[in-house]
Amino acid sequence: MAKAPLLEFSAARDQILQHAKHHTIPNSESVNLHLALNRIVAKPIMSPINVPSFDNSAMDGYVIREKDVKENTTLPIAGSIFAGHNGDIQWPKNTCLRIMTGAPVPNDAYAVIMQEDVKIADQQMSFDGHNVKAGQNIRRIGENITINTEIFSTGEKLTIPKLSTLAALGLNEVCVFKALKVAIFSTGDELTPIGEPLLSANSIYDSNRYTINLMLNALGCEVIDLGIIKDDLLSITQTLKQAADLADIVITSGGVSVGDADYTKKALEQIGEINFWKIAMKPGKPFAFGKIGHAFFCGLPGNPVSSLITFYQLVRPLILALYQQHTPSQQFTLKTISHLKKSIGRIDFQRGYLHRDHDGQLVVSSTGDQGSHITSSFNHANCFIILEKDRDNVKAGEYVTVEPFDSCLL
Ligand code: AMP
Ligand code: MG
Repeated sequence: MAKAPLLEFSAARDQILQHAKHHTIPNSESVNLHLALNRIVAKPIMSPINVPSFDNSAMDGYVIREKDVKENTTLPIAGSIFAGHNGDIQWPKNTCLRIMTGAPVPNDAYAVIMQEDVKIADQQMSFDGHNVKAGQNIRRIGENITINTEIFSTGEKLTIPKLSTLAALGLNEVCVFKALKVAIFSTGDELTPIGEPLLSANSIYDSNRYTINLMLNALGCEVIDLGIIKDDLLSITQTLKQAADLADIVITSGGVSVGDADYTKKALEQIGEINFWKIAMKPGKPFAFGKIGHAFFCGLPGNPVSSLITFYQLVRPLILALYQQHTPSQQFTLKTISHLKKSIGRIDFQRGYLHRDHDGQLVVSSTGDQGSHITSSFNHANCFIILEKDRDNVKAGEYVTVEPFDSCLL
C-alpha cells in the first residue's frame, strides 16, 4: 500500500481553526477586577466617564490668562489650587494662581508655567511669555479616554496596563469568558506520577501531563486532571467518554502513533469523529484531532518535546480562537550564528536562543540537540527557529524565521 502523504502543518492548523470558528463559547461571567488578570474580554467595554474627567494641571506651577502672556511679565500670586480641591476660586484680573499637579484649572486659564521656569519674589511671579503656548501643561478632559467609546473589544486579554485603565475608569467588575474546561490524561504502562518512586526500572515519570497542565493554566483554562491511564482499549475508551462529558476539550498524551499499544485511535473510532494525522512537522509527526460528542479532542504524541510543541503550535491556537483572542504573528527573520541540522520534507520547530552579538545585533543560536526526547534543549531556549519544509541544512550566517515564546512558555 502506498504511504499516505504527510499533512502540511499549516493545513492542520487551518483545519483546527476552521472548527473553532464554528464553535462559540457563549458563557461569560462578571469578575472582580482583582481576579481578572489574563482573563479574556467577553463583550466590548465602553468607557463610562472621560479620563481626565476635568481639565487639570500636568505640572506644579502657575496658571495664567492669555492676555498676560508677554515677554518678561510679573504677576501677583492671588491664590492656590490643590489637587482634589475646587478650581473655581476667586482669580482677580492681572494675577496668576499657584497650581499643583492634578488640580483643576479655572475655565479662563490659558496655560500653566512650570515652577522651574519662573522666578518668585514678594508674592509675585515673573516669567518670560516668549515661548508659552496655548494649553501648555494643561491635561484636557477626555484626552486620555473619551466617554462612551469602546476601549477594549471581545477577545482582548486583560493585561496589567489594561486593568489599570479599567481601574482609572472606576470599574470594579468586568465581563470575561468563563474558563474553558479541559480534561487531560496520559496514556502509557511505563508512566509513574511525579512525586512517587518509579514503578519499576523500566518506568519513567509522567512529565507531559504536568507540562500540559501548566500551559493550560497559563492560557486561562480550568484543568480536569484524569491522571494516568494504562495502555488498555477499554480503560482508554471509558476515560475518553468520561472526559468528553466533563469538558470542552479533551487532551491526551501518548498512544496516537502506530505502535501495538497505541489504542487511542481504536478507542476514538468507536466513540468520536477523529482525524489521525501524520503532520509534516518535526518534532510532532503523529497528532490526532476531532470531536467526541460536543468536546474537541486533541491527541498529543508521547515524546515530551513533541507533546509540548504540538500543544503550543496546534492546541494553543485552538484555545485562543475559542476565546476569540486576537493573536498577531510574532515571527521575524534574522541571522543564525549556529549551523542547524535539517532534512528536507518537514517544517522544523527547533529551539533557539535569541540574543545580541558583540556588535549589538539581534541573532539566534541553537540550544543544542534537537531530538524529540531531549527536553534539555528547551530549558534555555526563548524562541522557536522555524525552518521551512523544503529547507536543507542551514549554515551559520543564513537568515531564519524566529518566533519568540509567548507567556504560555515563559
Ligand atoms: P507514545 O507516543 O505513547 O508512543 O510515546 C512515545 C515516547 O514518549 C515513549 O518513549 C514514551 O515512553 C514517552 N512518553 C509517553 N508518554 C509520556 C509522558 N506522559 N511523559 C513523558 N514521556 C512520555
Ligand atoms: Mg505509549
